[in-house]
Amino acid sequence: MFRTAAVAAVVALAAVSAQAKPAPSAAADANAAIVAAALRDKALTDPTAYEIVESLTTEVGPRLAGSPGAHRATEWGVAKLKALGFRNVRAEAYTTPVWARGPESAEVVAPYPQHLVILGLGKSVPTPAGGVEADAVIFPSLAELLDAPMGSLNGKIAVVTQKMTRTQDGSGYGAAVRARGIGASEAARRGAVAFLVRSISTRDDRLPHTGGVSYLADAPKIPAAALSPSDATLLDNMASRGQPIRIRLNMASTASDAGAAWNVVGEIPGREKPEEIIVIGGHLDSWDPATGAIDDAAGIGITTAAARLVGSLKQPPRRTIRVVMWGSEETGGAGQAYYDAHKAETANTILAGESDLGADRIYTLRLPKGSAKAPQLKPLASVLAPLKIFINGQDAQFAGSDTEEIQKAGVPVVSFAQDASRYFDIHHSADDTLDKVDPEQLNQNVAAWTAFLYLVANSDIDFRALAVAAPAAKP
Ligand SMILES: [Zn+2]
Repeated sequence: MFRTAAVAAVVALAAVSAQAKPAPSAAADANAAIVAAALRDKALTDPTAYEIVESLTTEVGPRLAGSPGAHRATEWGVAKLKALGFRNVRAEAYTTPVWARGPESAEVVAPYPQHLVILGLGKSVPTPAGGVEADAVIFPSLAELLDAPMGSLNGKIAVVTQKMTRTQDGSGYGAAVRARGIGASEAARRGAVAFLVRSISTRDDRLPHTGGVSYLADAPKIPAAALSPSDATLLDNMASRGQPIRIRLNMASTASDAGAAWNVVGEIPGREKPEEIIVIGGHLDSWDPATGAIDDAAGIGITTAAARLVGSLKQPPRRTIRVVMWGSEETGGAGQAYYDAHKAETANTILAGESDLGADRIYTLRLPKGSAKAPQLKPLASVLAPLKIFINGQDAQFAGSDTEEIQKAGVPVVSFAQDASRYFDIHHSADDTLDKVDPEQLNQNVAAWTAFLYLVANSDIDFRALAVAAPAAKP
């Protein structure tokens, strides 16, 4: 009953708000709070986000930038946004380095011959034809590899078997992922001919997790692959026996410096200040072993559904909501391409946010500096409370890797913190499939984004001015 009444209130109050002056008043606050709460409740049962995730994973599947899948994902994104009623829908082209996986295998040759389950790291160079065979040096942590003297790994395969810590906020990833990022280059500097890393994963199973390698400019490029967690433990156990371990690694891949990629864009144009833009979205590309359900069809579904709900009111929002389906988050370059194409709009981009930590529930929200007590956002705490989301006292520092370039150019960001406890069990592995998405948690995300978007898009809040006026943070 409450929901039905509240939805009716949305329609009625949206009409009232058209005449209301933007200046905050008690009546305007109450109006905004009621509409935001009604939209929240509508979002909780709205099927759009799940349908988007289902559609993208089923009809497109894997879609690494530069692959035929990415091309189909772009066409999918344009068609989907148009079908959902977005305006100014287009695919914005840019060029980006492209990498494609080839056949891969690894095995222990001695002392205990066994097959190893691996997945090459994205952007890795291939092994020479016929593969590479060498003695392995096992490092239980990246720190121990970094302590190894220069030249100590000449001709060896370096292996880092460091485990990742499970955390709710995903911070365990930041600590662990350095091994995947710079491990190969640090090993190469010390003379290694190939590099293996325990998957950056919180699960103990036989699924390897890929992800990008970041070659350092001053180090030779050597092949790099992720071991499944179980196989990393196997190598630890072999190493504990003290005999030399010999590994053979075979990896084929192809790469080119300039492939085609696209950011797909659609808008809910603002009715009063269309030039003031809120940028939200998720990334359209995914790693190749799976269908990219939690990373990041979920983010596309959540933000697209939220924007559509705000746009479905009788009165469009005062400001423009722009959904961006970023084209190459995993391999990089989408944020830079967007910034290059939209430089002139930066000053009028009032806020940016990205959903890119899976499909599980949001538990806290970090706002731009100085805005937590803004009258325009006064209803937010009570609207989010039934979703078990609290407003964090800390300012938003980061929205997502695709919004970093516009953030550097001065665009304020918002950060919705999702529960990442199980995200890294699945992330970048063959297990990132639709069945991992819990529709109820997905819709909790949509509800939070919808309520927040409604309030910001219908206000005159100026996050930049609030940040300037905010007192300096306590030391
Ligand atoms: Zn992602």
